Amino acid sequence: MKDTLGIEKLIAFSQAKETPLIVIDLAQIKDNYQELTTLFPQASIYYAVKANPAVEILSLLDSQKSNFDVASRYELDQLLALGVEGSRISFGNTIKKATDIAYFYEKGVRLFASDSEQDIRNLAEHAPNSKIYVRLLPEESSSADWPLSRKFGCSTEMAFDLIVLAQKLGLEPFGLSFHVGSQQRDIEQWGNAISRCAALAKELKETKQIEIRMLNMGGGFPATYKLPNAPLEEYASKINFYLEREFGDDHLQIIIEPGRSLAADSGTLVTQVILVSKKSTGGTPRWVYVDAGLFNGMIETLDESIKYRIVSEKTGPTDNVILAGPTCDSMDVMYEKEKVELPLDLKQGDRLYIRSAGAYTASYASVAFNGFPPIQTFFLQ
Ligand SMILES: *Cc1c(COP(=O)(O)O)cnc(C)c1O
Repeated sequence: MKDTLGIEKLIAFSQAKETPLIVIDLAQIKDNYQELTTLFPQASIYYAVKANPAVEILSLLDSQKSNFDVASRYELDQLLALGVEGSRISFGNTIKKATDIAYFYEKGVRLFASDSEQDIRNLAEHAPNSKIYVRLLPEESSSADWPLSRKFGCSTEMAFDLIVLAQKLGLEPFGLSFHVGSQQRDIEQWGNAISRCAALAKELKETKQIEIRMLNMGGGFPATYKLPNAPLEEYASKINFYLEREFGDDHLQIIIEPGRSLAADSGTLVTQVILVSKKSTGGTPRWVYVDAGLFNGMIETLDESIKYRIVSEKTGPTDNVILAGPTCDSMDVMYEKEKVELPLDLKQGDRLYIRSAGAYTASYASVAFNGFPPIQTFFLQ
């Protein structure tokens, strides 16, 4: 576990602040970035901005010479405002308006993901000569806690045709990409995807003399939640082995797009107990209602997908509770099946600390559902 920010320091920092809030330890993000560069020395890192687009985080990663993967013109504008050049940015969203392609091109972006014929044609028109990488559908797997499965990517047969089309239309058929699903706990998923890319690259070379020069392995690297996963070192050594096995010394440019693994462990969401109650006299279990829920930070507890570590300052005996948020939507229940053990003497006003909440929390919160304001983030240098 990598929480560099101890719970005592966290309590001291957040004590006088109104809940809910997120505290981000920027030093941890820097450590995570450096660890990734050490473990994947041959890879260029493109931070997936959507995980946490806070300007403090973007500036820090900019100072570390990171590249950025963006999904919209709004994210692009944020980076341009910081002075990040278009040459360090990829437009990784395969679902994009033609007008946005033109905007990215005008701002100097020359690296684009695609997975459809219409999009390739739009790119040829609005981003001529740009580098294109085609995204493959992932294989079905249940080992990603937050799968990205069917919406993005295309079959290998279609990817072949799109690469050929891209070349024909004057684009540079640069690479292939995949995303094995976020918080992917089965490292072999990278092995499968790398093998499929290698087979496709070979076919393109042999039948069309098209040389694939780049492989974008997406995100999926883990943060530290309750379900166990292998350490990042093991991910890296296995993935580097797969790359070597499939591509040998092809001098392929490698890209990774970490979001969660860079940002999540740096953050703690501090929330306060609003009520502890039961649904009938003497009944069980206890319901614990807190002031953060699915609409203000905890969206990834949808279907209880991400199982956060939750810490209380109280240390007495515990039992299992149902944990729910503050809004008037019955969907705003974080954990009902998953066992959440909290102290028996937990009372209104007590605080809970939800660890590894630095990714897909603040950026994913609703604007003002039920009038609750967006959750605030504070940064520790
Ligand atoms: C969301 C996303 C990522 C980041 O994935 P993580 O699992 O958070 O690391 C990377 N690439 C693309 C294209 C994405 O959409």
